[in-house]
Amino acid sequence: MKPTLVLVGRPNVGKSTLFNRLTKTRDALVADLPGLTRDRHYGHGLVGSKPYLVVDTGGFEPVAKDGILHEMAKQTLQAVDEADCIIFLVDARQGLTPQDKTIAEGLRKSGRPVFLAVNKAEGMRREVVAAEFHELALGVPLVISSAHGEGVRELVELALADFPDEEESEEKDDHPKVAIVGRPNVGKSTLVNRLLGEERVIAFDQPGTTRDSIYIDLERDDRRYTLIDTAGVRKRGKVFEAIEKFSVVKTLQAIEDANVVVLVLDARQDVSEQDAHIAGFILEAGRALVVAINKWDGLDEARREVIKSDLARKLQFLEFAKYHYISALQGTGVGGLFKSIDGAFAAAMKKMSTPMLTRVLIAATEKHQPPKVGPIRPKLRYAHQGGSNPPLVIVHGTATANVADSYKRYLEGVFRTAFELQGTPLRVQFKQGS
Ligand code: GDP
Ligand code: GDP
Repeated sequence: MKPTLVLVGRPNVGKSTLFNRLTKTRDALVADLPGLTRDRHYGHGLVGSKPYLVVDTGGFEPVAKDGILHEMAKQTLQAVDEADCIIFLVDARQGLTPQDKTIAEGLRKSGRPVFLAVNKAEGMRREVVAAEFHELALGVPLVISSAHGEGVRELVELALADFPDEEESEEKDDHPKVAIVGRPNVGKSTLVNRLLGEERVIAFDQPGTTRDSIYIDLERDDRRYTLIDTAGVRKRGKVFEAIEKFSVVKTLQAIEDANVVVLVLDARQDVSEQDAHIAGFILEAGRALVVAINKWDGLDEARREVIKSDLARKLQFLEFAKYHYISALQGTGVGGLFKSIDGAFAAAMKKMSTPMLTRVLIAATEKHQPPKVGPIRPKLRYAHQGGSNPPLVIVHGTATANVADSYKRYLEGVFRTAFELQGTPLRVQFKQGS
């Protein structure tokens, strides 16, 4: 599982600057799609061959500027609690402040590994900058400049030293891991209970820590699924009871670990920014997706039309996914989810041979040539598959840096249709040379 690194510090120390630097390389993977607003508080980072998740708690600052916990809002505390490791940022130019001390105290109590980073230190002498921060008793202060990138790589390498490199082994999953995610109160627990009530449960893992999701193996029509339950439904004797509430880190980890994600939305409310951000993260992670619009029971026709157009407008970038209108409470439409989960999983794991991909590519270029950039027209020669879940198609040719975004989207559409990739994001990359 990818480690989660959480950035903490008072406002203006440079958390979002560091966040942007850490996530920059991965950002390029997801094209700007209509309706997609990237959440600048969760993202993917990569150091060497080690992938990790980054959470910037800057987004969790409380609006009110008073109250005991005003330095560390509730969501921040929760993220700290759930972090694999914490980077605590302080400001070299302002020096040590009372707020830093308060935060440091909270972090020490959390028992999580903390790395103290003294930011904005470009052009300053390390020892001098670091000196006063020893007082925080959080180990040796690491002197960095987020804006200039100095010391950042070393910081992350150190923070993640105890976590393994990405396993090179191709995952040979014969059955899908299905994460049920969504913001609080959309009906995740109700849906999981419904699924558990109807299917044969084979195994039920208790969570290891509070942030862990629960893994449930079940069987339906002789097919096997592992549900990843982020809502924290636990078996208590004969009743299922929802205990845990929403957790950002848990949601991100579950999405990462899944092959297919069921995004649960609430038909009684408009699509919110939080819905869109979770959806964006699913896309960024490249996971296959099924959208379940829950609480469809008892809605009048007008409301149904409103929510449908709201979805089409705000979640345009999810048009590759199947939508289901369900009632977890009454059980309607729930069974139908499995067919889409199967389809999305098959699409995500699809094997596409080089000759087939190349044939489709050549036919597509014959129909529409890539547009010229200046005097040069990119020439696309062949394609091969570079990965699955999400499927990655690597297109080889010359002047590939000049392929227009619109043409890339055209090719994506062509591959998607040719290989029946409904339900999964698809990535197309270009490679120069043959
Ligand atoms: P946040 O509130 O902790 O997320 O802080 P921001 O990332 O928004 O940064 C606050 C201010 O500090 C911005 O004006 C940044 O440009 C500046 N800043 C961030 N990192 C550095 C750095 O390494 N050096 C300098 N000189 N300024 C920085
Ligand atoms: P979670 O926080 O996403 O796990 O949401 P819960 O499963 O706890 O549900 C939140 C509330 O919505 C509860 O009061 C449920 O009874 C209600 N609810 C869940 N599913 C449905 C549904 O399909 N229809 C209606 N009308 N209410 C539902």
